[in-house]
Amino acid sequence: MPIMSAFMTPGTPILLSTWSFGLRGHAAAWPVLEAGGHAIDAVVDACTAIEADPEVDSVGYGGLPDRDGQVTLDACVMQSPSSCGSVCCLRHHLHAARIAREIMDSTSHVMLVGEAADAYADAVGEPRENLLSPEAAKAWESWKRDGTDVDQVRDAGRPVDQGGGRLFDAESRWAGHDTIGTLALDSMGVLAGACSTSGSPWKLPGRVGDSPIVGHGLYVDPDIGAVTATGTGELVMGVCGAMLGVEEMRRGADPTEALVTVLQRIESAYELEDNHQVGLVAIRRDGRIGSASLRGGFKVGYTSIDGDEVRDPEHVSHPGESG
Ligand code: ASP
Repeated sequence: MPIMSAFMTPGTPILLSTWSFGLRGHAAAWPVLEAGGHAIDAVVDACTAIEADPEVDSVGYGGLPDRDGQVTLDACVMQSPSSCGSVCCLRHHLHAARIAREIMDSTSHVMLVGEAADAYADAVGEPRENLLSPEAAKAWESWKRDGTDVDQVRDAGRPVDQGGGRLFDAESRWAGHDTIGTLALDSMGVLAGACSTSGSPWKLPGRVGDSPIVGHGLYVDPDIGAVTATGTGELVMGVCGAMLGVEEMRRGADPTEALVTVLQRIESAYELEDNHQVGLVAIRRDGRIGSASLRGGFKVGYTSIDGDEVRDPEHVSHPGESG
């Protein structure tokens, strides 16, 4: 299905997320935009909803832990180069995107990490919570015991969400990456983005991927557009993926063309492995949207005044291979 190339009418809000489960976040975020609210509130609400959803095993509660069985959370929010916030390696607080926003709004810094980030979250009244769900603990135990990798459909019996994203796609070979990245354009024409993740499962303790790093997993320039990424964070980080996408739009590229350039840059910089995947979504300032992935299996959640849709990306570099 050809998608995401329509010019949106200025003033028409839109929400665009990585993965079909993004629509679960849109259910929380759309009423904000529909009521004339701010893009930044909408994207944080979208991530907050997904963080609390135990069925999404790559974000927030339910997220798969690191090598030592500890869940750590990363997130980033952005409205412009001078208005962004980020948090890495939270161990005790669930709502990483909300904490990143607090850092953006209430401090002179951009990023807080580790124990000090948890202490900051305590200080601003965020509740301490257990992040390890029983299912995620079970998956970690079986990985630890016999190296069994999680199969998010067959082993864990996850329900199929609205559209069957990679996370819930029984045909997919690709396990382990599913950040929620949400971009919004509000009715005032203002852009914002947020992304939140538990990172790659079984990661080395301390590993942080692209998601909470401004310019890598998320970048927003209010005069140009916004890009967010999901997938193998290390690949995105090597090319400053989200910023590269925005810079390509600045040079005049169509949003999907801009994302294709990011993927091409990744392919020329890395020898791809079978389990590598990158998915990208973009909104240009005028509301034109784009999406692309390295391999099949990536889905996009899109919400406009016409309702919710799960779409295939406009471009797939290796359509024969599922991620
Ligand atoms: N990009 C994220 C990371 O590398 C993972 C993901 O998208 O699932 O941490």
